[in-house]
Amino acid sequence: MESHSNIIKRSALRLGFDFCGISKAEFLEEEAPHLEKWLELGMNGKMQYMENYFDKRLDPRKLVDGAKSVISLMLNYYPASAKATAGEASPKISKYAYGKDYHYVIKDKLKELLQVMNEEIGEIHGRAFVDSAPVLDRAWAAKSGLGWIGKNAQLIRPKSGSFFFLAELIVDIDLETDAPMKDYCGTCTRCMDACPTQAIIGPKIVDGSKCISYFTIELKENMPEEMKSKLDGWIFGCDVCQDVCPWNSFSLPHKTKEMQPNPAILNMTKQDWEEITEEVFKNTFKGSPLQRAGFAGIKRNLSYLST
Ligand code: SF4
Ligand code: SF4
Repeated sequence: MESHSNIIKRSALRLGFDFCGISKAEFLEEEAPHLEKWLELGMNGKMQYMENYFDKRLDPRKLVDGAKSVISLMLNYYPASAKATAGEASPKISKYAYGKDYHYVIKDKLKELLQVMNEEIGEIHGRAFVDSAPVLDRAWAAKSGLGWIGKNAQLIRPKSGSFFFLAELIVDIDLETDAPMKDYCGTCTRCMDACPTQAIIGPKIVDGSKCISYFTIELKENMPEEMKSKLDGWIFGCDVCQDVCPWNSFSLPHKTKEMQPNPAILNMTKQDWEEITEEVFKNTFKGSPLQRAGFAGIKRNLSYLST
């Protein structure tokens, strides 16, 4: 008889996820002191929400009643057009934001997976998480054997890379679990050397308060003066530490039709960005992750590019 874990993995792939791994829902003992120190040192910058739910973030059983297993899923977001546009002079946008807001796309797939589990396995309760603050998704993906956490703090999968969304289903049944894999960064330090703001202060430690993604998306006020000249052309997010990673030379274009790139993102020049009005921005980027920075945020980021 097919094991429950196999049913889940087979169904996850059928629903469009690229990889699926499973781990026991338990206290993240190894990660706890790192998270505590990271917060203590203020590396979350003004992202105060990261200080909330400290206990819940480290123990899924405090987040979901009766939690027994964490099902981790990966969904490729590497766009077919990324290689062609890389290096162009137009303002840069992180590849994960090329299409529609991925939260909805992935949440729908997770709900469908839970439904299939209920049909094929039995009554299962669970909660779906997509890039949400209370869950340390990279830690769970690594624990579930989906990859290792690289020096750039991204989850890297051998021969696949790191351009993947991570999501979790925390469920109340015991499942066969996967073993973590070894770290294949070796002596490489490309990501640490390439970071424009030296935000990777040690292997696997990114000072969030120095990261371009934080400055261009999360920070609602003005950027510190010394950072304005280091944005390296980015107006939303930053992919540098992933672009330089040799494992990402294996990246293949994703096949999720709901996440096709918005043509405007691929075609807009710096002048187009400078001239766009709030109304056009709202219409063009309706349902896009760019809304997180908003029109004012994007315009602010743009204004720093010439400083
Ligand atoms: S995303 Fe960019 S700024 Fe942030 S750590 Fe990576 S290279 Fe540095
Ligand atoms: S660039 Fe090198 S050190 Fe950084 S994550 Fe990739 S393999 Fe690891």
